[in-house]
Amino acid sequence: MTAHRFHSAATPVIEIVHLSKRYRDVPAVDDVTLHVRAGQIYALLGLNGAGKTTLIRLLLGMITPTAGTVRVLGADVSAGDRSAWANVGYLVEAAAAYPELTVRENLDVVRRLRRLPGTADDIIERLALTPYADRRARTLSLGNLQRLALAKALLHAPGLLILDEPVNGLDPAGVAEIRAVLADLARQHGTTVFLSSHLLAEVARLATRVGIMHDGRLIAEHDAGQLDRHRRRHLRLATRDDATARAVLRAHGYHPRPAVPAGLLLSDQRALARPEDVATVLVHGGVPPIDLHLQEEDLEAFFLRTVGPATPTALHTGTGAADA
Ligand code: ATP
Repeated sequence: MTAHRFHSAATPVIEIVHLSKRYRDVPAVDDVTLHVRAGQIYALLGLNGAGKTTLIRLLLGMITPTAGTVRVLGADVSAGDRSAWANVGYLVEAAAAYPELTVRENLDVVRRLRRLPGTADDIIERLALTPYADRRARTLSLGNLQRLALAKALLHAPGLLILDEPVNGLDPAGVAEIRAVLADLARQHGTTVFLSSHLLAEVARLATRVGIMHDGRLIAEHDAGQLDRHRRRHLRLATRDDATARAVLRAHGYHPRPAVPAGLLLSDQRALARPEDVATVLVHGGVPPIDLHLQEEDLEAFFLRTVGPATPTALHTGTGAADA
């Protein structure tokens, strides 16, 4: 009997109830309750050490909880029930592949292990790996290795995908590609995605629901869009004459503030929505911008503002590379 027969559409795909995991006196995961519904892209957001990896390991049954329960697709993972596993794909360690095998051969190994019919061509194409299909894995860039790892997790077309920091270490182009793949999976194929990240900007763009973890606890949950309202964003601009630029912008109904050490900041919604209008106003006012860009608060700043100073360890190990 397969797991889906137990699992009705109304049941959450992931049900975590009062889940805790302690390591001696460290509560790595502390009384977390969360639900993920079918078709959601749920992102667990937190600084390094927040407990994201521990939570994902509990979810996958790789470690046993100190307290609480985890159900995945209706199966009780914490009780050792692995019946749902045929319908789950996951990626938890750094992308690993057989270095001397090609991309296609790596995927064929997984396909045979899982006794899947057909070929890996479809997944190779979907993850834009076609140009690299016959390249040995050891010659791939980090971004392409990560895509290969994702292809392996997706080969059996799972209904649920669980990913620990899937965009870690990727350049902005690689991040954008993975984001597109995940969004397509959720929208076109109805795949539920559960992922962890410390990149606020990425998560805000991708997730339909966000859980914020801090010191092992789930301190807030937001639906897509809500996070943007909580997060500070502004346009930063520089001109050759900030005083004139300020007067010009005010005359057009904007509310510029001086930036440190120079330049101006704009937080007006219409400025954020249409930066090109700001540029046009400045050009017509005789003070063309020499720089104009959107600045978004990163996770560290967001945490400092919303939950108070993070622990020193968390701040030191946070990469701060959130908003490229
Ligand atoms: P990162 O992004 O750095 O992996 P994280 O949010 O995934 O961070 P975890 O790796 O889950 O955080 O770690 C949460 C806390 O639990 C940390 O304080 C960590 O030191 C501790 N911890 C995790 N695994 C163990 C373990 N096997 N033994 C002891 N302590 C652990």
